[in-house]
Amino acid sequence: MPSNDDSVAVLSPPEEAVATVAPKKIGFVSLGCPKNLVDSEVMMGLLSRGGAQITARAEDADIIVVNTCSFIETAKQESVDAILEMAQHKIAGKAQKLIVAGCLVERYRNEIQKNIPEVDAVVGTGELQQILSAAGIAAPQNEPGPFVILNSRSEGDAREAAGRFSKDSWEGAIADLPNYLYDENTPRLLATPKYSAYIKIAEGCDHPCSFCIIPQLRGKFRSRRFESVIAEAQQLVKQGVREITLIGQDTTCYGEDLGLKDGLALLLERLAQIEELRWVRFLYAYPNKITGKLLHTIAAHEKICSYIDVPLQHASPTVLKNMKRGAGADIFLQSIEKMRREIPGLTLRTSFIVGFPGETLGDFEVLCDFVREAKFDWMGVFGYSDEEGAQAFASEEEAKVAPREIERRRKKLMSIQKQISRKKKHALIGKQLDLVLEGPSEETELLWHARTAMHAPEIDGTVYVNDFGDHENVREGEFYRCEITEAYDYDLVARIL
Ligand code: SF4
Repeated sequence: MPSNDDSVAVLSPPEEAVATVAPKKIGFVSLGCPKNLVDSEVMMGLLSRGGAQITARAEDADIIVVNTCSFIETAKQESVDAILEMAQHKIAGKAQKLIVAGCLVERYRNEIQKNIPEVDAVVGTGELQQILSAAGIAAPQNEPGPFVILNSRSEGDAREAAGRFSKDSWEGAIADLPNYLYDENTPRLLATPKYSAYIKIAEGCDHPCSFCIIPQLRGKFRSRRFESVIAEAQQLVKQGVREITLIGQDTTCYGEDLGLKDGLALLLERLAQIEELRWVRFLYAYPNKITGKLLHTIAAHEKICSYIDVPLQHASPTVLKNMKRGAGADIFLQSIEKMRREIPGLTLRTSFIVGFPGETLGDFEVLCDFVREAKFDWMGVFGYSDEEGAQAFASEEEAKVAPREIERRRKKLMSIQKQISRKKKHALIGKQLDLVLEGPSEETELLWHARTAMHAPEIDGTVYVNDFGDHENVREGEFYRCEITEAYDYDLVARIL
């Protein structure tokens, strides 16, 4: 699992995936989002197929890999802290190699090795297969070369020509954009529980959002082949996966570079036909890419969770214009109304950025009013982080909102949402829903964690199960019918029927 704690967690691979004869033990720390987690799973798969043994104990590892995140300042700090913590194992003499991978490498390639001499090698987001040479492991003879995607969208080509992906202001970064994307034949060791997996259907992003450096870190938008995604889903289901979460920087653009219209809807439709699959959902929709066809498809298939995660980032038209995203509260309210009309019982998740340069108190009030009216089921709020290389970084200093004020606005928006969430969760008491059991809580075997289709893995609240009905034995990863019996601000309590 990606670690958000202060202490760094090393990924624990499923036991059956561990090689029995292993010349090298490799420990993995994966930080940041599920997209980065999939990259870690691919690198673990490549290393494992090359004969290495993946270990969950950093103190046993001969080689430690830290797959980093560089999204915002706090993520960078967490990545640097993890590298320094893992460097201690090398200093102590057990680990012989420390490898840094991921987004931080795209941003600070030269700096990392210059400033942290314990780091032996770096692997960028487009170089996943180089994890083998970095770890000193020979690639199997029939190993296919790097899987490079060359298709692109015309928007991406135009934005590239206009300098959207330029890393000129980043000293030491390489100019080349990542263009790697794994496929169904790439080995992958799942780090998620065995009943649930992410599938990355696309990589990179062509949007011009002025606060975001992900396009420079991850490259232009590119989709995986339709049949490759289906083949991977079928393989995962054969292995026991019952829940699939489709990810990408922007899943709603899926297939545009392949000439597909409504690619995501078509993909979901095909995935919903996989018999043993219980739930499929997608994350990270771009607001104006949610088509009528996509809504109808979600509504028409029971297996497609009635769940949309659409990061809106703001509601004030002025701020959204400065963010280079466009639209505003009125347009968003209309599309939310349409989504809820088309998909009864829809769960809607969003996230916002507060304190963007130039955000006035008036803009912030527009956002607060919008949140009160839209009544999201789940909502995240980030304080604006000033990232060198993002367009907003060049804003006038006077336009930048003070960090304390950013935090005040973040807390205020979250407190508005807390009231909304509490009401929504209380309205669920007495409702019957399906849930998947995730395992006993750390405190007691009598209380288990679970999720319903309203809860995406890792990000939404929890359902606590404290009554197992007539079931003498319940199993992690199994689905049960339940009734919601209690509700809190974000979490629910349920009994199995
Ligand atoms: S759509 Fe998302 S990933 Fe792409 S530039 Fe905007 S914020 Fe960044």
